[in-house]
Amino acid sequence: MKNKLDNIKTFARTKSKKFYNSIKYYPISRHIHTNFGNKENLIKYNHSRTTGPEPCVCHAPLRSLYFDMKGNITACCFNRVHIFGKYPQKNIKEIIYNEKREFLQKELCRQNFMYGCQHCHKLIEAQNFEGVEAKLYDNLKDQGNIPSEMVFELDNTCNLACEMCHEGFSSTIAKLKGIEIPAHPYDADFLAQLKEFIPHLKIAKFLGGEPFLINIYYQIWDLILELNPNCKIHLQTNGTVFNEKIESYLRKGRFYIGISIDSLEKENYEKIRRNANFDKVMENLYRFAEIAKQRNTFINISVCPMIQNWEEITEIVDFCNKNSFFVYFNTVYTPGFSLRDADEDFLLKIKDYYKNFKFYTKGIIAKRNLKFFNNLTSQIEDIYNQKEKDSRYEKKRHKWTNSMLKEFMFKKINNDKELLDKIDDVFFNLGEEYSFSDKDLENLEKLKAEDLISALKNEAVIELQEKIQRFIKFGKFSK
Ligand code: SF4
Repeated sequence: MKNKLDNIKTFARTKSKKFYNSIKYYPISRHIHTNFGNKENLIKYNHSRTTGPEPCVCHAPLRSLYFDMKGNITACCFNRVHIFGKYPQKNIKEIIYNEKREFLQKELCRQNFMYGCQHCHKLIEAQNFEGVEAKLYDNLKDQGNIPSEMVFELDNTCNLACEMCHEGFSSTIAKLKGIEIPAHPYDADFLAQLKEFIPHLKIAKFLGGEPFLINIYYQIWDLILELNPNCKIHLQTNGTVFNEKIESYLRKGRFYIGISIDSLEKENYEKIRRNANFDKVMENLYRFAEIAKQRNTFINISVCPMIQNWEEITEIVDFCNKNSFFVYFNTVYTPGFSLRDADEDFLLKIKDYYKNFKFYTKGIIAKRNLKFFNNLTSQIEDIYNQKEKDSRYEKKRHKWTNSMLKEFMFKKINNDKELLDKIDDVFFNLGEEYSFSDKDLENLEKLKAEDLISALKNEAVIELQEKIQRFIKFGKFSK
């Protein structure tokens, strides 16, 4: 009942914030820094925010803290550049009152993504608004410097060796590769220091590794259950582990479970998620879902769209729609897996397939999932458009005749009579028609009159023919 009431309160708070922001910052274009590149996308992004448009593009720096495996503490897991401090050299309190947090917050309120926030900027540019991490902090409570959220990614202990993962996030991969990852620095003193801040948390997130296999997480959950049992606990699991101990935690705390599933085909799933058993994970998924239903929390399915499973993404979304699971898409950057590595034709095929798929659309969750899916499609469209633009530059699509090129050269040398015959000789048997790309024409424009004149005066016809062809291709006479 308490969870249901809290959900209603959050909904009401979001709506009133949206109303307030929509009036206060109307029109949002007036609040965007004049130096900002593509204003249009940022305006669109602002209108997609559940709490309405506002000049601050992200509230993570002051509302959240992210702890990584090496002891680095930052605003979020995507910004690994602007480090607030390192544990144990600095204690949690010193980090919380560190001016670097305020600095980053100020910059993000000026729409400056330059201090390590390029990930969010890129997604806004690609119009994948639902994938923008910054959005997750809009609705977090503002408590001044005291964080209302903490994200723990403390350890890489994991029983799987997923194809697209690496040793930093999986102890199994590290072992297979013979790489020793240093132990994390979080100790008993860290747990003691957390006690002061846990009562203020609204959300605590746990990443890995596999969270259910990481011992220190159970100790933090114990602290949360003792000091702030109402705090929401989000965790991202691979779904392979479930036992009585886990069940007892899930029944005591407010757990929101995200399960990573990249395929609903046993063979492909087990190929991607090496060491996992598909049937066991599906069994666990329904157990998690049953407990979440009883506790009025929810679960989500977290998917890595990749070259290896692109055809199954629609099926997964439909599965989530029919089962009332939220779907969330990660962006995969691993070479050979990332959709960014697909060629133009492949991307076009994916884009068309996604656009024409007919989904199950009944219910609020299905509608929300389709919004997320459409954002993924926009992101793919953006990658395709970029590749198409790049390849268009290289495509030989401009037909020039021999006389057009000759005419171009005449003009370059200002119709210098002495050299016209030489040009005639050069083009005498150079071919009747040429195909040039945008790049070739750009190179031709760069040809300087003095360089051409000097070449015409000093080189034999055969060398000149070679030099001109080379210039068109590379923008320079020399090799
Ligand atoms: S803008 Fe994005 S990358 Fe930067 S702190 Fe916010 S969520 Fe993190």
